[in-house]
Formats: sequence, structure tokens, C-alpha cells
Amino acid sequence: MIRFENVTKKFSSAITALDDISFEISQSEFVFLVGPSGAGKSTVLKILIRELLPTTGKVIVNHQDITKLNNQDIPKYREKIGVVFQDFKLLEDKTVFENVALTLEVQGRSESEIEKEVEHTLKLVEIYNRRNLFPRQLSGGEAQRTAIARAVVGKPDIVLADEPTGDLDPQTAWGVIQLLNEVNSWGTTVVMATHNQEIVNTLKRRVIQLKDGKITRDVKEGKYEH
Ligand code: ADP
Repeated sequence: MIRFENVTKKFSSAITALDDISFEISQSEFVFLVGPSGAGKSTVLKILIRELLPTTGKVIVNHQDITKLNNQDIPKYREKIGVVFQDFKLLEDKTVFENVALTLEVQGRSESEIEKEVEHTLKLVEIYNRRNLFPRQLSGGEAQRTAIARAVVGKPDIVLADEPTGDLDPQTAWGVIQLLNEVNSWGTTVVMATHNQEIVNTLKRRVIQLKDGKITRDVKEGKYEH
């Protein structure tokens, strides 16, 4: 469960990225965050991974106000959240397998457990035959499937995706969306910021629309609107 309560984020007195927004997302919902560039979508996601703190307001994730977390509690909190970015953010000097394994290594899991879980996840996202390649040797779709494997291998409660299909051709983008849909079907909450109208209109999931840091629309089975 995610709940924003009257969240405001100011970067300066002139820049208000989020302006007193409130919403709640239940466990296992799939939500699209839409709105023009600068609307505040990335700021919502960055607050959720505790990269940014709101200026005022509460952010409750699984009954915990994450604005109150101490610095030493942040890594533990982040274990519950998988993140997927437009530009993949894979480590260039590590193979596909090693990139995905890293999530579990930082959690202190045993080597045999890591081997088993990473292998399982790479097969699931259909990238197992690429496991020994480096990111520069992958296509965009393969890189994004690797990034999704990295995000989900630790069985997070929540997956946050910021324009995950932004740089992909339409067919590859659909593969990525089907994968996120599957992740959601296991009970994982998925929050995805996107400009991709076709994907939003076809999936018919909840749509939260932002503009100038305010929620202008919040509808179930929504469509993309300007
Ligand atoms: P979106 O993801 O919808 O494009 P953002 O959340 O990235 O929007 O940005 C919301 C607003 O906050 C924009 O006006 C943007 O310029 C501003 N902003 C975002 N990050 C920073 C920052 N680190 N410093 C100053 N202003 C920022």
C-alpha cells in the first residue's frame, strides 16, 4: 500500500514540483502516472524510493511513513522496491547475470540462493541465453528485460518504472509491458510513469494524471487524455 498525504515538494521558492497531492494505491494495483514533461511524475517516483524527501506531507508505504526513515534504514526499505528506468542504468562492466545478481548480493543472500533465483528470473524474462553478455552487447529490449529482472529478482512489493518503454520500438515496448503485467499478476504493485498513449489506452488500468504538480485526473480503467 502506498499513500501520499498532502505531499508538497519544492525545489526552490519558484519551483513547486508537487503541490499538495494526496492519493492511495493498494497492494497489487497497476497504475499509470501520466502528464506532460515537468508535471511531477519522476518526483513522485523519486520520493517513493527515498531519493528525495517531500517539503511537507506524509508518504506511507506498507504502514510506515518513509519520510521518517533514518539513513541507515533506507537500504532495507529499498529492498522492497524494484526500479526500472528509461535508460536501463545497467552496470557496463558487469554481465547480465552479474547485474541481476547484485540486487541479491547487497541483500546478503547466499551464493547458492543467488544462483538459483537469478537463473529462474533470467529464464522468466527470456534473457537466460544472454546471461554472459555485457550491456553494450544487448539490444534495447534485452537491456530493459535485464533491468526488469534486476528489479524483480528480490521479490519486491512494489515495482516503479519511469518511462520504461521510452527508447524502445513499439513491438519491443509491448514485450516490456507484458512482462510488467505479469509481474503485477503475482501481486506486485506496479507504478509506471509514461507518455505512451497506446499502452495506456490498451491496458485500461488506473490512470493518475498530473499537471503542474497537481492531480488533474484519477480514474480506474482509464485512457490517456491531454
Ligand atoms: P516529470 O517527471 O513529470 O517530467 P519532474 O518530476 O521531473 O516531472 O519535474 C517536476 C518539476 O520539478 C519540473 O518543473 C522540474 O523542472 C522540477 N525539478 C525536478 N527535479 C529538480 C531538481 N533536482 N532541481 C530543480 N528542479 C527540479
